[in-house]
Amino acid sequence: MKLEIRVCEVGFLPTNCWLVKDSETSRSFAVDPGWYDETLEHALHAFGIDRLDYILLTHGHHDHTLGLAQLNARFGGKTVLHESEAAFLSDDSLSLRHPAFKGLPRTDKADILVKDGDTLPFADGEIRVLHTPGHTRGSVCYLLGDMLFAGDTLFQESVGRTDLPTGNTAQLLSSVRRLAALEGDFRVLPGHGPETTLSHERKHNPYL
Ligand SMILES: [Zn+2]
Ligand SMILES: [Zn+2]
Repeated sequence: MKLEIRVCEVGFLPTNCWLVKDSETSRSFAVDPGWYDETLEHALHAFGIDRLDYILLTHGHHDHTLGLAQLNARFGGKTVLHESEAAFLSDDSLSLRHPAFKGLPRTDKADILVKDGDTLPFADGEIRVLHTPGHTRGSVCYLLGDMLFAGDTLFQESVGRTDLPTGNTAQLLSSVRRLAALEGDFRVLPGHGPETTLSHERKHNPYL
């Protein structure tokens, strides 16, 4: 496996939509398509991707999922979400999807519902699922090689908010401590803001 990674900032917040490709097998996936437009489409094509194997969702908030249906229609990819987060795709009071986006194409169901410890085959390896509730009840992190896709659970020197529906501060703190206890170092690829590393966060993140 020879992994390459790109980030495309999408939407109004903005959100990091991570694009990963194994250049040996041309397998690929995207993480958190918070918005779909020409910028993301061009980024995928420039990266040599015309079909996705997966669209991984770290959680169901609108700023991570508004581009899902359009990305899926054009590039395929099985949508992956934690089982306890499934309702977020159809329930706007959970996803916080604004009524202004009513006309946007939507996907109400994930193709693959995962739980803690599940793995997804990818190229000649596997993507590991860690259930890290707290920001939302079904927030997950995905691990592949030295990459940790953290969604809104862990940010550079900060953590996700817990005041939104199904958020829980005690759970979030135990989730980020669980990440800190992972063996070795990882590139931390969050849902917003700059990339960091687990070793940096162990030293400088007050919540860890
Ligand atoms: Zn969120
Ligand atoms: Zn977010």
